[in-house]
Amino acid sequence: MPADLTSLERRVVAEVVRREDDLTGLLCDLVAFDTRAPDLDYAPRDEAALQDYVAGRMRAAGLAVRVWEPEAADLPPSRYPIPEGHHFRGRPQLVATATGAGGGRNLLFNGHVDVVTAEPRELWTSPPFAPELRDGRLFGRGACDMKGGVASMLLATEVLRGLEVPLCGDLVVNTVTDEESSGAGSLAVAAAGVRAEAGIIPEPTDLTAWLGTRGSLMPVITVDGRAGHAGFPPAHWSAGGPVNAIEKMQIVLEALQRLRLEWQLRPDTQHEMLAPGTIVPTVLESGQWIVSYPAVSTLHCHVQYVPGQADANGYGTRVEAEIEARVLAAAAADPWLAEHPPRFAWPGDVPASFVGEHEPIAATTLDTMAALGLEPTVASQTTFFDGPTFSRAGIPTIAFGPGNILQAHAVDESVPVDELVRAAQVLAVAAMRFCGVGEG
Ligand SMILES: [Zn+2]
Repeated sequence: MPADLTSLERRVVAEVVRREDDLTGLLCDLVAFDTRAPDLDYAPRDEAALQDYVAGRMRAAGLAVRVWEPEAADLPPSRYPIPEGHHFRGRPQLVATATGAGGGRNLLFNGHVDVVTAEPRELWTSPPFAPELRDGRLFGRGACDMKGGVASMLLATEVLRGLEVPLCGDLVVNTVTDEESSGAGSLAVAAAGVRAEAGIIPEPTDLTAWLGTRGSLMPVITVDGRAGHAGFPPAHWSAGGPVNAIEKMQIVLEALQRLRLEWQLRPDTQHEMLAPGTIVPTVLESGQWIVSYPAVSTLHCHVQYVPGQADANGYGTRVEAEIEARVLAAAAADPWLAEHPPRFAWPGDVPASFVGEHEPIAATTLDTMAALGLEPTVASQTTFFDGPTFSRAGIPTIAFGPGNILQAHAVDESVPVDELVRAAQVLAVAAMRFCGVGEG
């Protein structure tokens, strides 16, 4: 065991190992709850039952637990992709607090308990909500993203409490819903006022540190053509002839591609750690009939922007304006599109944020990783997680957790058990170092 651990830290690390079966059992219990992200009717699944289970374990460990269903009206104004009619009824949020002795910093552990659909189920080796241990890995929907991380943070908390480690600051344990769909769960919790100086989210980072993420936009761009019989020599459009919306969309695609290539090199679209901003066309819907000129073409894109491209509030309004201006400039050079300009919809925006490597929570976590024999790697490739929600609320929040993001959302999703153990060790020791440990 590395020498740069205190004797109490060594006891904590050893206790996590001793409780490995408990940790996998806890994860099995979590996976067995069907907490798939809700459909648009927002009918609840097993979210309340899962939160009740977590509440029971945290109460047994001596934490003060609050479980509540935020009102839709409690959500602060945001650009998050939260659909009309969204509510939390039947999908409560949980905050459990282990009050410290005082004189230390408070740390937040946050994890989402919602998972994505298990379809196509017939391809799974074992049923997605009947967790199974095979070859040192635990299989099941959410095992990796991110009930594995949740299990690690809960066990880390139980170990600290069980050994009566006298933390100076509070340890705040928070499980939320609605991460996979919109981020509304953590938005509601952050708005409710969590008292912490920093946070760690054990998303599947492959035991590396995610210090932030790019912001995301999902524009929908619609180009109009004009329908007509594809088998006849067409009249000019100014004489009422048909216009091929697919061909007009090519102009949009080219403009987007040029902008993407520009972003790969432009200084304001670079970041010291994260990949540059990007625009990826993801879905193209066009055409109504095989012998008709397509009357309309609709393009969906996934846009990611670095913090340097964000507006003063951290959102992507400047990115939206730039994309619209570029597309419209290209369209203006085409006589039809000049008269029938492309239309834009911007359904949602999740903001960019990044916690500097030398900020206390990042430095503490990276040091702890190294002290436990892990490579203290800061990942350059990250994806949306709830960190920016808390960071923007004044709680700088990073991610560190078990499992590989490539397993997330996949058929036969799984997490290695040894990584669950490693993550729980790092989380427990990082909490000791960040919150401070008193005399006891
Ligand atoms: Zn996740």
